[in-house]
Amino acid sequence: MNLMTSQDYCESLREYNPTVYVRGDRVESVADHPQLAPGVNAIGMTYDFARLTEHREYALAEQHTSGRTVNRFVHINRDTEDLLSKLEYVRALCQLTGCAMRYLTMDGLNALYQSTYQIDSTHNTEYSSRLIEQMHRIQDNDLTVGIAMTDAKGDRSLRPNEQPKPDSHVRIVARRPDGIEISGVKAIVTAAPYVHELFVLPGRNMQREDKDFAVACQVPIDAQGLTIIARPAGRPGDAAAQFSSRFGQSTGVCVFENVFVPYDRVYMCGEWEHSEHLTKTYANHHRHTCIGARAGFGDLLIGASAMMIETNGLDMEAEPHLREAMVELIKTVESFYACGVSASVYGKTTDAGNYEPDAVYSNLGKLLLAHSIYDMHRIANSVSGGLIVALPHPEEDHNPDTMDKLDTLMSASADMPPHRRAAVARLIEDLTASHSGAWYSVISVHGGGSPEALKKEIFRNYPIGDKTDLVERLIERGLHKDSPGITPQPGQCCDTGCEPPRQTTLPKRERLH
Ligand SMILES: Cc1cc2nc3c(=O)[nH]c(=O)nc-3n(C[C@H](O)[C@H](O)[C@H](O)COP(=O)(O)OP(=O)(O)OC[C@H]3O[C@@H](n4cnc5c(N)ncnc54)[C@H](O)[C@@H]3O)c2cc1C
Repeated sequence: MNLMTSQDYCESLREYNPTVYVRGDRVESVADHPQLAPGVNAIGMTYDFARLTEHREYALAEQHTSGRTVNRFVHINRDTEDLLSKLEYVRALCQLTGCAMRYLTMDGLNALYQSTYQIDSTHNTEYSSRLIEQMHRIQDNDLTVGIAMTDAKGDRSLRPNEQPKPDSHVRIVARRPDGIEISGVKAIVTAAPYVHELFVLPGRNMQREDKDFAVACQVPIDAQGLTIIARPAGRPGDAAAQFSSRFGQSTGVCVFENVFVPYDRVYMCGEWEHSEHLTKTYANHHRHTCIGARAGFGDLLIGASAMMIETNGLDMEAEPHLREAMVELIKTVESFYACGVSASVYGKTTDAGNYEPDAVYSNLGKLLLAHSIYDMHRIANSVSGGLIVALPHPEEDHNPDTMDKLDTLMSASADMPPHRRAAVARLIEDLTASHSGAWYSVISVHGGGSPEALKKEIFRNYPIGDKTDLVERLIERGLHKDSPGITPQPGQCCDTGCEPPRQTTLPKRERLH
């Protein structure tokens, strides 16, 4: 078991020399650049968290292909318990960091595990064994791998091969005896500057004419020909940003120019008919993960809103409209989280042997959070009052000319000292009304796929036919007569009929959050 600390992780980043630009400057060392520090801190947390004895039950897992204990974020899921532990682990980390990103590595590995198995089964290829070898290397070195899936896309009404600029989608530009060369632009890659490697995955279904765009592979972050043009992570250096000056994520545009990838890191090379399966499988795993992530963010909003009510001198138990607002917030967060739990319980073992969340529930949970993120912000804002965006900057906290004059503004509840009132107000601003707050809104809407993509998957996977059969049976035979006794639930549809939900024998578990 090799579990790095956050310091080891930083040190490991210094061994790479990626081409990264932030705000127009070439970054010398991503581990030491202040504009990227909140992102490095957030991923660093995934390393330190897993080493704490109290978190090991959730944060570590046994990799079945090697028998070795690994960080869950580089693990292949095998059962319901794995998915529930993942949800808890992601939620707990996002309470601390907002977004810790590293779970994307796990989603990518699980999707590739299924996809390589499927391609090998039809094409007699050896992608699966390549992936397992690389996965063991990732696990043994405790690496973080980013996901480069979303292409620049160009004109959305055109297919990849029809684009006036072929680089709008990453594609194979040369096939060599020892590997391939890829070129093109991936538009949005979370944490790109400070991961060790990237999984480059196709972002959509492909047709025969798009064959060269059907490519999945793995590249080190400092591969020759790869340029990353990134935004700062969070709000570095902003004293008012109590949370996102310490934790936040950068996103990077990844430009590939004739990047060479040896065949032992290539997992799809023109098998265009499997592109859709890989994209959808990744999306399903990742949407399930997004649910845990945004629940952790929701926990922060619930706690901060309750404290803000208290600092205003109000008792939410005694004020029906405030109590109602808090219940609304709780209902929202726990409803989409419950979909994540259902997706775990109704998940299924795939042909490849790993375990996939139920697609209806994972897409529903992600859709619910995409729609309700603005309501979550609205409720936190409405119970807090305007102070959250009106409070002067922290420089005034210690300015002898102004600090006393602000004392009246900051004095509300006798039980809450002014500095705590300021801290909570600034936290709510940071999470909901700053550009980092907006980042959490947009990632909730688009991260893991836009709402339309989620709706398509819900419609595609939901057993509507079973429901019409049910009604037909009722109409033909009268109420309940000769009924098989089971009303199929989402995710329980199968070729031979429908099965009741599997009995889980989950050990009694404590909630981590
Ligand atoms: C903060 C953040 C982090 C992210 N991190 C990652 C990451 O780490 N890795 C990664 O690969 N991706 C990442 N993404 C990308 C994310 O998956 C995409 O944003 C999402 O899939 C939507 O794609 P898009 O942004 O290109 O929007 P578009 O696809 O352009 O969608 C915009 C709108 O147009 C509609 N639309 C698009 N195409 C069509 C069409 N052909 N016909 C009709 N309507 C259409 C959509 O439904 C949507 O309403 C991240 C996104 C965000 C915001």
